[in-house]
Amino acid sequence: MHRTPFEKLVFEFHVKCPIFVGREWMRHRMASYNEKSARYQKFKDWEWYQPSEWRIQAQKNKQSSVPSSTDMADYDKPYNKILQNSEEFYKDALDNDVAREMARLVMPVSVYTEFFVTMNFNALMNFLTLRMDEGAQWEIRQYANAIFNMLKNIESIQWTVGAFNDFVLSKPDVDSELLSDLHEKLNTQAKEVAVSKENFKKLVDAYQYLEMKYGK
Ligand SMILES: Cc1cc2nc3c(=O)[nH]c(=O)nc-3n(C[C@H](O)[C@H](O)[C@H](O)COP(=O)(O)OP(=O)(O)OC[C@H]3O[C@@H](n4cnc5c(N)ncnc54)[C@H](O)[C@@H]3O)c2cc1C
Repeated sequence: MHRTPFEKLVFEFHVKCPIFVGREWMRHRMASYNEKSARYQKFKDWEWYQPSEWRIQAQKNKQSSVPSSTDMADYDKPYNKILQNSEEFYKDALDNDVAREMARLVMPVSVYTEFFVTMNFNALMNFLTLRMDEGAQWEIRQYANAIFNMLKNIESIQWTVGAFNDFVLSKPDVDSELLSDLHEKLNTQAKEVAVSKENFKKLVDAYQYLEMKYGK
């Protein structure tokens, strides 16, 4: 795909997010970053991410999570306690002349950080493709969705953003019955048609990937 013309268009965002979201974001190397330094300045009053729910581990996707059917709010209290204790340690260490670069060692990844990121449109579309996808963690998805909504409102790139949405972001129309049918056929009829063992394995892998990505 001829995407290099999009590299002439550059965006800069001032992002405030939990450190764990920043860690994921900064894996996108086609970008320039400048982050608030906890060596250079004190993080005076910590702000940390308060999840609205404690999701449970997904069974199909090893990296992912799903909503819990039971109330997990019991985790809120100990979670906040740990963060409060860490903040107390941090402040106490600074008061006792411990260096900022040392005191920060107790900073959990849910504490908010801030950075500026500059990305060209090509790299940004790659970021959005990966981070708006359901396979990405819910929290970073919220940032990617917010950026996408901003882009949709920029008059001069509306056609491109529309095409990106229609041809890259939109899910293919995978019919769940068709998937089940395919699964059935692969399991029962593969021997009857001329499919090599190797190709059969590839087909099953492709089916499993689609099923994991788009559900049954
Ligand atoms: C759902 C999900 C799970 C992930 N899990 C993990 C994980 O468990 N562990 C982990 O470490 N990371 C993980 N990542 C991060 C992932 O591996 C990528 O680093 C990240 O998504 C950035 O993607 P990118 O390389 O395409 O983007 P960029 O780094 O912005 O690069 C853009 C493009 O430039 C090209 N490019 C950049 N650098 C190079 C290079 N050195 N050589 C060749 N081509 C290059 C590639 O075409 C690349 O697609 C995960 C990402 C996602 C979305």
